[in-house]
Amino acid sequence: MHNPSFLVPNNPSSSNCASRHDFFFFFINGAYRDDNGKPSFLSALEKQSGELPGTRTCEEYLPMGGSVKMVEETLKLAYGEDSEFIKDKRIAAVQALSGTGACRLFADFQKRFSPDSQIYIPVPTWANYHNIWRDAHVPQRTYHYYHPESKGLDFAALMDNVKNAPNGSFFLLHACAHNPTGVDPSEDQWREISYQIKVKGHFPFFDMAYQGFASGDPERDAKAIRMFLEDGHAIGIAQSYAKNMGLYGQRVGCLSVLCEDEKQAIAVKSQLQQLARPMYSNPPVHGALVVSTILGDPELKSLWLKEVKVMANQIIGMRTALRENLEKLGLPLSWKHITKQVWSNFILLAGVTTGNVGYLANAINEVTK
Ligand code: PLP
Repeated sequence: MHNPSFLVPNNPSSSNCASRHDFFFFFINGAYRDDNGKPSFLSALEKQSGELPGTRTCEEYLPMGGSVKMVEETLKLAYGEDSEFIKDKRIAAVQALSGTGACRLFADFQKRFSPDSQIYIPVPTWANYHNIWRDAHVPQRTYHYYHPESKGLDFAALMDNVKNAPNGSFFLLHACAHNPTGVDPSEDQWREISYQIKVKGHFPFFDMAYQGFASGDPERDAKAIRMFLEDGHAIGIAQSYAKNMGLYGQRVGCLSVLCEDEKQAIAVKSQLQQLARPMYSNPPVHGALVVSTILGDPELKSLWLKEVKVMANQIIGMRTALRENLEKLGLPLSWKHITKQVWSNFILLAGVTTGNVGYLANAINEVTK
């Protein structure tokens, strides 16, 4: 009999030990830090953590689709508080293992129900998408996104890619705060993208891992999604509370698919649950309870919204400080893109603080001389 371990390729990424690569990954993985460089623990979480309702039953299994209350509140953030799609029960939605798990569940769903389709992923992008869709056996294509010279969106090339993709392709879009470039399409550009995706019958799948971090307001950060909804698309959305609620390790998120009607939504939800069942049976309970408690309580929700703004402003403020520091050093280069982009993991701006911004500007100045 073969020793099963021989079947595992002997390379560092398959090791159980944390390698240097892992630490690098943790470092760039978009975690917010306060101005002292410390991980933040939101007071909205602190206020409710001692009083979680139903804590005595909190260790029991959730249903396969997860916490109904958490999913309900999460859909409101993406589709809108008074969304007609929510009222009409047209959305198939399940709790997912944070944003990654939501993407993976969707990729498996795509493979099962649209087996000949492919996924278009922006360049550059969050590297894990390639692993996710590869493991789901969905062929991958890329579309142009970033224009290095202008340090902005390569809109013309992106539109060409949308136009030239086979009809009915899947397009992965970052709803806001594109990772890693921090470049988001303008409202007019989103309109044109939406129009062209509709013309081609493509399926837009939104990954929204940073809702609230682009503008400081989760409602504004959902504007691209709302536009696509107005334009009558069927869409999918992956949502995560890792960053905007600081619940990184709780793995709490949501996958939703907007369907034609309630009947289709019931069928799609049932299929999503069938995909989840052999993967993890049912999602974890604690983070979902934290989210539903905060979002279900108007006072805690408004405290959370204030704290999201504080986190976003800290990052926006550090962009301004970094640009000002670099401009003071006088190299004949433009640093405008630092404040034009909204969020970037090329430099982990959440790790830049009042205390280290001058040092960082000097270092950048030295290497770009
Ligand atoms: N999508 C993007 C663009 C990300 O940057 C990340 C994390 O860094 C995720 C999804 C997934 O995050 P999580 O699985 O922690 O919610």
